[in-house]
Amino acid sequence: MDYIIETKSLYKRYHRHEVLKGVDIHIPKGSIYGLIGKNGAGKTTLMRIITGIQTPSSGEYSLFGVSCNDSGISSVRKRVGAVIESPSYCPEMTAEQNLRQQCRYLGIPDMNGIGDILETVGLSGTRKKKVKNFSFGMRQRLGIAMALTGSPDVIILDEPVNGLDPAGIIDIREMILKLNRERDITFLISSHILDELARIATHYGFMDGGRIVEDISSEEISRKCRRYYTFEMDNFDSAVRIAEEHGLDYKVGSGEIVVYGDFDLDMLLNRWRDAGCRIINISQTNESLENYYLNLIGGSGEGGEANDQSHAC
Ligand code: ATP
Repeated sequence: MDYIIETKSLYKRYHRHEVLKGVDIHIPKGSIYGLIGKNGAGKTTLMRIITGIQTPSSGEYSLFGVSCNDSGISSVRKRVGAVIESPSYCPEMTAEQNLRQQCRYLGIPDMNGIGDILETVGLSGTRKKKVKNFSFGMRQRLGIAMALTGSPDVIILDEPVNGLDPAGIIDIREMILKLNRERDITFLISSHILDELARIATHYGFMDGGRIVEDISSEEISRKCRRYYTFEMDNFDSAVRIAEEHGLDYKVGSGEIVVYGDFDLDMLLNRWRDAGCRIINISQTNESLENYYLNLIGGSGEGGEANDQSHAC
């Protein structure tokens, strides 16, 4: 498979503090790669390294197959647009003036594409309005516009919807999907909120404590997310005994038993009925992406959204 971005055993230390501890990620061409991790997991550090803002303490990464140790890396870096932490723009200028400045900075003489970029990010109507008078959502969109200057093949966005209202989040999501589908732009997007990325990510890097715990496609996750049945019932003692006898993967909740994985449902129901267990309700669910992630990083799924079918699983 062609990887647009690949990292191999990336380490980053600040004095004695090891922030990245051997990070390996593989970002396929055309994907939307969601880098998910709690605050302080190392997401921004990883992005800063990939964009060349920082250097790794050891390890290697490649962009479009070119190693960071090759002289050609600065040339392929031009194919990467990024907004890391906060977008860098001049507040005293308009959106268009900022994009013109960005073109000059990148050495792009042809500024004809600026109107199209402003249209794409929904800022074409801002005309003479200075960026200092923009809403937060407009500034985020301007950040993406700046990253689009130079027609990149990859865009890296650090927490792009952080602080946005629900409508702003939807706008950014739709913009990302459009750019991915229509212009085949690969995205690397970080977030500490899984739900934000679950609707668009095709691949995930789950990060915890400076490590990638799993680098996986959403299709693989769907396969791995366990299916389970919840049985609301009484006569628990007999029901649990029978579940034990059949070696089932189960847990007991309040007034219910949850049974995971593949098992013979008819057999189990017959055994429970024969034992006098009264089944009040049966429901079938797939484990949510959120629970999958929490299990992966050793967190608690309690209060999670195991029944929320809006997740990718
Ligand atoms: P957040 O979601 O809060 O932005 P993150 O996953 O992006 O978190 P980083 O910003 O990469 O995490 O930080 C990872 C760790 O590295 C944190 O403990 C942070 O304090 C530390 N760190 C980051 N930059 C520096 C620095 N320049 N010097 C020392 N420590 C740093």
